[in-house]
Amino acid sequence: MHEFSVVSSLIESCEEIAQHNQAEKILAIHLDIGERSGVNVALLKSAFEEFKLGSLCEQAKLLIQESKVELTCDSCHQSNLANKLDYTHCPCCGSEQVKITKGNEMLLLRLEMK
Ligand SMILES: [Zn+2]
Repeated sequence: MHEFSVVSSLIESCEEIAQHNQAEKILAIHLDIGERSGVNVALLKSAFEEFKLGSLCEQAKLLIQESKVELTCDSCHQSNLANKLDYTHCPCCGSEQVKITKGNEMLLLRLEMK
């Protein structure tokens, strides 16, 4: 499952950051998951519960905010949240010259460590 590899690399990066900061453990992990990141939040959470055991993240809380897709338009130069599930047209002028500029990735926002 895709989420398993996402979680295992997430835990690895958290442990690296913790070691760099001489932290003993990680208390909370703040994530931003884009609507179009391809990550299923429910699966991610359950994979995390399994993978965290025995790691520095064992007692960490996973705090997730979900972000909407934002489109930036080359025709009218506006950035807007996409209309529901339409990622190919500018919500402002209807142009197809749009790029997804937010909401297509998962970001590690912040770690709380001790
Ligand atoms: Zn536009």
